[in-house]
Amino acid sequence: MINKALLALYAYEAMDFVYGEEHRHCCDGWEKNKVGFKWFNRRHTRGEKLLDAMATIISLQSGRRPVSLIRAPESTHLELVIASAQLMTPAQVSNFERYLTLLTKTASVTDALIDASQAEVVVHAYRICRDEVDKIVIARAAHLAPTLPQIAEAIKAYSAKEGEDVSYEIHILELARSAIKSLLAYRAAATAAATADSAGEALVLQLHRDLIAIIPALYMKAEVTIMDSAVEGYISGALVEVCFLSRALDDMIQAVASDKDLRAHLRSGALRCDWIKPRTKPDAVSIILDEPSMEGLRSCLPALKDTSVEQFVQAIDDKLKAGDRYPTNRGIARNPRNLPATFEVQESIHCEAALIAYLDDQAIDSTVYIASALPACYACHLLAISMREVQGCNSFRLGPYDGVIDCGWEFPALRHVAELEKIMLTKSDAHLRVVVDAYHRAKEPWTQDASGW
Ligand SMILES: [Zn+2]
Repeated sequence: MINKALLALYAYEAMDFVYGEEHRHCCDGWEKNKVGFKWFNRRHTRGEKLLDAMATIISLQSGRRPVSLIRAPESTHLELVIASAQLMTPAQVSNFERYLTLLTKTASVTDALIDASQAEVVVHAYRICRDEVDKIVIARAAHLAPTLPQIAEAIKAYSAKEGEDVSYEIHILELARSAIKSLLAYRAAATAAATADSAGEALVLQLHRDLIAIIPALYMKAEVTIMDSAVEGYISGALVEVCFLSRALDDMIQAVASDKDLRAHLRSGALRCDWIKPRTKPDAVSIILDEPSMEGLRSCLPALKDTSVEQFVQAIDDKLKAGDRYPTNRGIARNPRNLPATFEVQESIHCEAALIAYLDDQAIDSTVYIASALPACYACHLLAISMREVQGCNSFRLGPYDGVIDCGWEFPALRHVAELEKIMLTKSDAHLRVVVDAYHRAKEPWTQDASGW
């Protein structure tokens, strides 16, 4: 039933995402158009940023596949439970653990920007994530290289202004210019396969230094505007993407440098990683839409009370016709030979849901923060908030959430699945009501992006 509900929401939602009300307040919708990973909420605690950063690094190591992790609740060790969509090889696991060990050696350093011990961490991380980092850098450098003369022009134009203090604007543009130059140098070495030698190490460190210098500006709307208005098109999205690894590294180095307890944990060697792999290999599941199944659906989702089977099927077909415009279209296929209308979706258990299931039968006193390398989807978000109603306490909190609707979302093994499904359906009905209304109000809903959300 949950897949049908998600399919209904997907069919009537004009975009790819459903935004919870609370998400509008945290970033005013500004983050929704960013390319790639979202910037994390800057209000996250240092401990949460540390977990976010670890998830990012593991994900980059495995080709940017979904990864979620938690710090095991009530553990006296720094015990991580890591769920990854792709089974990590023993070499990848030991590389990540070596990364954490190297991190412990940076613990005593707080003042220098990058000292020798931090340099070792940075170089090791860039090495283990190299395949993915190279891919991102090569793709983004192609976009950024032609903007260098435009940035130089903009700096010149600012410098020529009289009677106006534009030193900050010039500073921001110079940061962007340095970062792009370092990227181009890194790309040249990467394409010559030279990044692993000692000359390559110097390039990696220079790139990291330049990227962490520009990261604070990429959080700020005014600074992003300065950068983007200096060039044709935009550069902020590409810069955000190439900063993923360095931002994660910087967050971790800062966390270790400033957190006494964490340092003590790391120094004592009391670090453990438990890896779990949810059944993420997709399973094709058919969803049949006919009058009897529609009746069942209407009883769970009153928002569909005036919707006929034909209208529902038409709404899905319209959206599928838009093809790649909606990334979520990829997992859904209409089976044209089968009547009544049959849609095939690829079912899998998401990493966030797998971690919730992992802790389901444990009594947890505190809220567990689930860090994810990719923003959590709509159904995982519904599951986390519905668990509160079943357990009567605030047990789980997800990281960034963008509300992607994955119609193949599958329940993990949980104790209260039936009850949870009921709560989730009620919550999704509220969202569905809004989008169904908007759909019927708009003449061409798929060409109008402002349809109520
Ligand atoms: Zn999910």
